[in-house]
Amino acid sequence: MDIKQNICPKCGRPTEEGFCGNCRVEETEWMICQPRVQCTHCPTCGSLKTGSMWSDTNLQREDLIEEQAMSGVKIHEDVEDYIVSLSHYDPSPNRTMVRVDIAGTLYGIHVEQSCNILIVWIKEQCDRCSRLSGSYYAGIIQVRAEGRKPDEWEKERALEIAANLEESFQMNGDRLSFITKSEENKDGVDIVISSHSIGESISKEIKDRLGGKYTRHPKLIGEKKGKPVYRITYLVRLPRFRRGDILEMNRGYFEVRSNESGNMRLFDLRNGEIKYVNENEPARHIGNILDSETSFVAYTENDTFGMLDPKTYENIECLTKPWLNISEGSEIRFIRDRDNDTIILLG
Ligand SMILES: [Zn+2]
Ligand SMILES: [Zn+2]
Repeated sequence: MDIKQNICPKCGRPTEEGFCGNCRVEETEWMICQPRVQCTHCPTCGSLKTGSMWSDTNLQREDLIEEQAMSGVKIHEDVEDYIVSLSHYDPSPNRTMVRVDIAGTLYGIHVEQSCNILIVWIKEQCDRCSRLSGSYYAGIIQVRAEGRKPDEWEKERALEIAANLEESFQMNGDRLSFITKSEENKDGVDIVISSHSIGESISKEIKDRLGGKYTRHPKLIGEKKGKPVYRITYLVRLPRFRRGDILEMNRGYFEVRSNESGNMRLFDLRNGEIKYVNENEPARHIGNILDSETSFVAYTENDTFGMLDPKTYENIECLTKPWLNISEGSEIRFIRDRDNDTIILLG
């Protein structure tokens, strides 16, 4: 049998086929380094700019240096099992010099090479921080209430809803949707927002959770790249009746337990049943549970009990309710219907 021995045409050493490994390595530029890379970052929030796009990063400095340095290194795809080691120092405050050492296997031959890459750090205020610092805003959400003022609980809820939505906008990468400022004032709550999409979401969510309705009032403020730019006031009107309100409807007394999108959940103060009623049904407002008075049960007798009027110190005799737990000495809350001098027991 004739065994044909292959010979490298370049160096004459034995080879399997064509040029030998050594000669192929010599011919191949397997590691290419850019001498310098630029990294634009926001000094305020640390975001990075790629092209013209900003994005948030949570990379630590060491990892960022590695990522930036390696963005300037190209390794031939035939290099196998390579190991990268880096060391760096800062020749000046906005420069980092990185030494990149790479060892691997190419065409069966062990190879090693190193290079230096200079990272140039450029500081630029990002799109979000410049909006924030320029007190840029796209609109205002004004939370008010119909025929009354929003109470503390409603104001807190509105601010909480806004903060939660801002969080989810940021988490979903919509970095330009945020709350610029929010404040409570004597009429309610004002929330200044940076984009129409977050304004719309917050207004809708407050309406859905606290009831009422909202309207949009756009105002043309200029043009950007040929497109009109609007600033929008979102007016959120919380419903006339809120949680804890005591209402008279169809000659019965009810406590509003919640009011979502105009659908009121009512507690019937006669029998303790729950009822759902539209907020537009005719109703008379007696007061709110926050305005209730307190007394103590002095005695019980069959289905009646007596308590002392905290204002006049006279005895008031009341009928017990099936949902009320009455015993001597227990505390009882009530509210007065001034129109007909009725005591309404609240529990
Ligand atoms: Zn050779
Ligand atoms: Zn920033």
